[in-house]
Amino acid sequence: MFSPEFSALGVAPELLAALYDLEYQHPSAIQEQSIPLLLEGKNLLGTAQTGTGKTAAYALPLLQRLTPRKDKRPQVLVVTPTRELAIQVAQAMESFARKLKCSIIPIYGGSAMVPQLKRLSAGVDVVVGTPGRLIDHIQRRSLDLSAIEAIVLDEADEMLRMGFIDDVETILAAAPPQCQRALFSATMPKQIKRVADKYLGDAHHVQISSPTTTLDQIEQYHLLLHSGQKVEVLKRLLEVEKITAAMVFVRTKEATTEIAAQLSNAGFRAAALNGDLSQQMREQCIHRLKQAQIDIVVATDVAARGLDVERISHVFNYDIPFDTEAYIHRIGRTGRAGRTGRAILFVSSNERHLLRGIEQATKQQIALMPIPDGKQVSTCRINTFADSLRTTLTTQELANMRTLVEEIAAQDNIEMVDIAAALAWQLQRDKPLYPKFKEIAPPAPAAARRRERPQERESGAPTGAAGAMQGYRIKVGRRHQVTPRDIVGAFTNEAQLPIRSIGRIKIEMDSSYIELSSTLPERAITKLRTLQIRHNPIGLEIENSGTNQPVKSKYKKHPASSAKKSPRRTP
Ligand code: ADP
Ligand code: MG
Repeated sequence: MFSPEFSALGVAPELLAALYDLEYQHPSAIQEQSIPLLLEGKNLLGTAQTGTGKTAAYALPLLQRLTPRKDKRPQVLVVTPTRELAIQVAQAMESFARKLKCSIIPIYGGSAMVPQLKRLSAGVDVVVGTPGRLIDHIQRRSLDLSAIEAIVLDEADEMLRMGFIDDVETILAAAPPQCQRALFSATMPKQIKRVADKYLGDAHHVQISSPTTTLDQIEQYHLLLHSGQKVEVLKRLLEVEKITAAMVFVRTKEATTEIAAQLSNAGFRAAALNGDLSQQMREQCIHRLKQAQIDIVVATDVAARGLDVERISHVFNYDIPFDTEAYIHRIGRTGRAGRTGRAILFVSSNERHLLRGIEQATKQQIALMPIPDGKQVSTCRINTFADSLRTTLTTQELANMRTLVEEIAAQDNIEMVDIAAALAWQLQRDKPLYPKFKEIAPPAPAAARRRERPQERESGAPTGAAGAMQGYRIKVGRRHQVTPRDIVGAFTNEAQLPIRSIGRIKIEMDSSYIELSSTLPERAITKLRTLQIRHNPIGLEIENSGTNQPVKSKYKKHPASSAKKSPRRTP
């Protein structure tokens, strides 16, 4: 009945019962490593990405170590960077501690002081708070740290980023020197390392390194578009993706309200989440998302930190984040609690280097997905429409309506199917089942674009090859993010072709056309067949009758890349 694995870590039966109810069956890596150490009272330095289960890793052992006492001074202090996180951690601890007799309160700025003072003076066991407000209470002497047995710094790097590091030190210095300390951080910048050395010198270091273990559950894609197309593309995606709930990340507060309004106007249940909202409004927004009263939250990074809503099936990076960490935090809002999620990143033509940076840092390729076209949207709307008809037919009492329709049909001698068609037409007026969309063409990769305009090409290498040429087709193209430079690079460096043996190159969506000198030795061709570009085997094949023809007529022989676009989404 109880998870034997948690039990083996030393977790007490009262807590095991709560874990059972919460459906925590297997401890996560950081839980497995941290729980026994913290139960023994050791100091701990934990590095782990978001979504790895850090809360339970420290909450379970520290709750278990609470001792029943009369004076009710707090025994455990958890410091978090944001109010959202403070609330979340307090709630998580409450849910673990249901069978223990203890009280846990969150304390954060932006909420009324008086209730906090009351609760503190009534006595608590665990305080979870943000640095600024904790210091307020320490200074007012409403928070007494003299009986603290354990202090946790959660998301320490985030506190550093938000400028709280001095406050954090003040708090650490105010607690009894012998108390147990745990520090969790996704990264270990110098300043954090310094605090750790100073306050948890003898700490055991627990490191859960590979971010892929946490991102495993998340399918990542990117989409190339012009920035002016973003709203339209987002709306299409919201229709064609199977969305339960979604976060849309943007750069500015203004953008949150603007985009949320545009989505609401288009009939989506969307709201903005940003730092301008009062604390109460923010909590309400998250609550409504949890309760499925809204489905889409448009947020800035700061406002959405630590947000943990299991319903979130999709994260849209509407504005590409500037750093990899923000990217990982954002997409970590989906794929929660063992579910799978999809993360879709909008990339405009001058942001490609940011995409490369994210791919390098996460050591993962983020596959390209095409912009959904009118036909896909139409198919989705028709499916939804048909489903709603079926539901109505099976769940509603329709006797009245049948009589009514039959009367109208008889009166004017109309065919039933025509009546149904007219009703269908009325129903779809606001959201046409056959929408007339402008097709959106994504920007072509920069390098390829240059090459597609023959008059812009310099006459020299790599395309100034002399002699008869043979056309080939290779199975990598725009979809694989291949540029002409990649191809030339692979052919000259890895297959050792002389640069003058390479002729014209044309990158298409799924494949590319390339001309090579027809005098190349068979050996060279054999070698080329084994080449990979961006980890894709190139599958070199001769392309019909490729001799030295003008580029343009050559291109006409291949179907335009747009005709090849398939709705396929997997790489
Ligand atoms: P982190 O602080 O590392 O970002 P959290 O502690 O917020 O991660 O946990 C992320 C999510 O995973 C939460 O929804 C939490 O309830 C869930 N979770 C954590 N540990 C487990 C577990 N052992 N089994 C199932 N779900 C878990
Ligand atoms: Mg956390």
